[in-house]
Amino acid sequence: APAETPHVVVDAHGLPYLDRKLPVKKRVADLLSRMSLAEKAGQMTQAERNALKTPGDIASYDLGSLLSGGGSVPTPNTAGAWAKMVDSYQLRARATRFQIPLIYGVDAVHGHNNVIGSTIMPHNIGIGAGRDPKLAEKTGAVTAREVRATGIPWDFAPCLCVTRDERWGRSYEAFGEDPALVTAMETVITGMQGARNGKDLDRNDKVLTSAKHFVGDGGTEFGSSATGSYTIDQGVTKVTRRELEAVHLAPFAEAVERGAGTVMPSYSSLDILGDGQGPVKMHAHAEMINGVLKGRMGFDGFVISDWQAIDQIPGDYASDVRTSVKAGLDMIMVATDYRGFTRTLQEEVTAGRVDRARVDDAVSRILTQKFKLGLFEQPYADTTNLGRVGSAEHRAVAREAVAKSQVLLKNDGAVLPLKKSQKVYVAGSNADDIGNQAGGWTISWQGSSGAITTGTTILQGMRKAAPDAGITYSKDASAATDGYDVGVVVVGETPYAEGFGDVGNGNDLELTDADKAAVDKVCAAMKCAVLVVSGRPQLIGDRLDGIDALVASWLPGTEGDGVADVLYGKRRFTGRLPVTWPKSQAQLPINVGDAAYDPPFPYGWGLTTLVKPPAGNGEAALKAIGSAARTLQAAGLGGSAQGSELVAVARLIVQAKMAGTISEASAKPFAEADHLLLSGDLRGAVAKLTAAYRAA
Ligand code: BGC
Repeated sequence: APAETPHVVVDAHGLPYLDRKLPVKKRVADLLSRMSLAEKAGQMTQAERNALKTPGDIASYDLGSLLSGGGSVPTPNTAGAWAKMVDSYQLRARATRFQIPLIYGVDAVHGHNNVIGSTIMPHNIGIGAGRDPKLAEKTGAVTAREVRATGIPWDFAPCLCVTRDERWGRSYEAFGEDPALVTAMETVITGMQGARNGKDLDRNDKVLTSAKHFVGDGGTEFGSSATGSYTIDQGVTKVTRRELEAVHLAPFAEAVERGAGTVMPSYSSLDILGDGQGPVKMHAHAEMINGVLKGRMGFDGFVISDWQAIDQIPGDYASDVRTSVKAGLDMIMVATDYRGFTRTLQEEVTAGRVDRARVDDAVSRILTQKFKLGLFEQPYADTTNLGRVGSAEHRAVAREAVAKSQVLLKNDGAVLPLKKSQKVYVAGSNADDIGNQAGGWTISWQGSSGAITTGTTILQGMRKAAPDAGITYSKDASAATDGYDVGVVVVGETPYAEGFGDVGNGNDLELTDADKAAVDKVCAAMKCAVLVVSGRPQLIGDRLDGIDALVASWLPGTEGDGVADVLYGKRRFTGRLPVTWPKSQAQLPINVGDAAYDPPFPYGWGLTTLVKPPAGNGEAALKAIGSAARTLQAAGLGGSAQGSELVAVARLIVQAKMAGTISEASAKPFAEADHLLLSGDLRGAVAKLTAAYRAA
């Protein structure tokens, strides 16, 4: 037979499953009926590509999947080299008896973040702050196009964690603390995968998603273990059944609705209060995976374990394999000992401890996605879109997402937006550091400070926006501070992924001493705006009084230009807090709806530079809202400009409510309008607003 190359795909035997005209179901059944147990076990195995003892093992062990874990990048780390690398593995898989293609997976959690030169989006917390489902979808589409262009059809994203305690180091992977917000942002799944029935998956700009981590990863308890280390990442989520449903499961129901192709269980354990079971590892949780996810929710994709996570199930390895597969896991991210896994799984099946039917179900689910992705017809990278990786067109989407993610927490004396004529003094650890701006999961697993990839820092963006302003920059504010109109101090965290983050700094969400000193010095010398570049709120404490303007910038990624856009008024501030901004350590954990809720900046807070906050009495506020609503109605709506006006109206309401200028009762219809807005129902929202105005 002729040899296959990435350019020539050879159908060695013309069996029915290779016939693209047959329905996927038939193709799966045909192929499955021909496969040996060893071949089936191989399909259920995912190995880290760096752990391959030899590339020949792909064929020898019939491996179904490979992944690049954090930092597992080719040399050189370019988009083109990724495509070549993936193809080289695919060639091996295609040399097997049935030519079953590999499905390669990566964590592209904010853009194709492993690849130097790619477009790095804001981390999810910033997307949540943006509250723009259409834009979230666009960021997903850009990510998918960049990932697929490099020959990778599968992305371990998005994280649907609903984060309830920001001491968790993965807080920034969440869209927010409110399940409704998380659910509203799942348009990102559609952006990545296309149609919910999977018919777009074979396009060269779509990827399979992985909704993770099922379920309750954002709800783990903070505490200290016997060894003195913190236990919150991979910890225990203690919840009532009701809270589990409403807070943590709801986003997964939406993911299933949107057709997410895979789901990844959480490292954490679930302790459902009152069920008498105590904590159960999610990777062993048959009731949740088989029962709720696959049963009640009707999830028909496949379940991929987290990295070596089955090893954490109590018992020996054989029991780990048995328990997890029986609980409903279809593919195991074995990562390293893939030889041991395939052998053990076969032994368990042969001994009758794992049903053959369960294995057939798992393999069918995996093959179904491979067929839908079109991998049998096009196993190799379609590099048509390689030139679009990190392109201006893609960066423009990221830039818009960055601008929308910025939350203006305080703006005394209307310090922001800046005027181009102003003399500006810039300081702080994160003003000119693209690595810090991007955070973890960027180029390497934990991310790192410095010029790790291409893009603009916030300082560079500001200099582009106001080239004649003569912006002075001193990281530690050690330069002379007199003669400036305004200071901009950009403070915050250094990158981390998983764990607790920021541990060197006590894991207490405090600014570093150097950043505190820069804030104190600049804010004492001039009017100042402080930007917090971080994966979660930082405690500002009493310093807040001395700061004129405060901005939550989150982790904006490579497009610092987007931050400059709102700083200089090219775009308006429209972001709103996706999580509560606490005052002190003592307030943690804090979430909207708590009995005693008294944060300096509540969930949903965010000033806008679009409409002036209403001053004075409630009547005036209502009038302002009502007239804005009538304007919108008269304009007939439909366009995005009106949409953003409406966002501003909704924000006005929140501000009026916070300022106590309107009563809870009169605020209610506006809160409802806000909800309609979030679900994309602009007309409904306007109708609500107008009715409320008439009633007032
Ligand atoms: C993380 C997952 C990730 C996986 C593969 C794990 O440590 O928990 O979110 O998808 O690694 O990199």
